[in-house]
Parts: sequence; C-alpha cells; structure tokens
Amino acid sequence: MSVPGRPETLEASRCTACGRHSLPPGPRCPHCGAGTRLVEVGRGGRVLSWTTVHVTPEGVPAPRTVALVGLDCGAAVLCLVEGGRVPEMAGRVEVRFADGVHRIG
Ligand SMILES: [Zn+2]
Repeated sequence: MSVPGRPETLEASRCTACGRHSLPPGPRCPHCGAGTRLVEVGRGGRVLSWTTVHVTPEGVPAPRTVALVGLDCGAAVLCLVEGGRVPEMAGRVEVRFADGVHRIG
C-alpha cells in the first residue's frame, strides 16, 4: 500500500527475526513465521518475470499482463501491468498501489 502523504513509498512488512521484507504486508513473516512490523520501503525495483493472462474469471477484462517485481528492499510483489506495454525483463520500474492492487506501467 502507498503511505498517505508519502507517495514515493510503499508499505511492507519487515520481519522482527530475520529482517526480510514482504508485500503485501502481513502479520507473519512468509520466510520464518516470526512476527512483523509495518515499514515504508522504496517503490523502485526490477521486473523478474511477467505473463499475459488470456482467460480470466467472468467480469475480469482479458488479456491482462502481470509482472513479478523484485523491489530494492528484497521483497517480490505481483503487479498488474498497465498501459498495454510488455515489461522489459530486468527493467527498472516503480510500483504504485491503487484500488487495492500493486501496479506498474
Ligand atoms: Zn522472518
């Protein structure tokens, strides 16, 4: 989630034991199961992978392109790709959070 008043950041969970970040934020670390605290992280990262989905549930427009983005903080987050462009593998992107979805493009 974007931090109100701080559009250059996203909200992530930071593990209190292993220190790793995860998005979307959650109460438990997906790596070790310890507790987390909410922190702000930068929006920058690189495209790790992407795919275009041609068959979607009823009511969801198709095709839709989604990308896995590795943020500079170390967390990976699945993002909806907007703008109709295919993302460049390993290309620099900025993730934003709007209407409950992480987005690039
Ligand atoms: Zn952990």
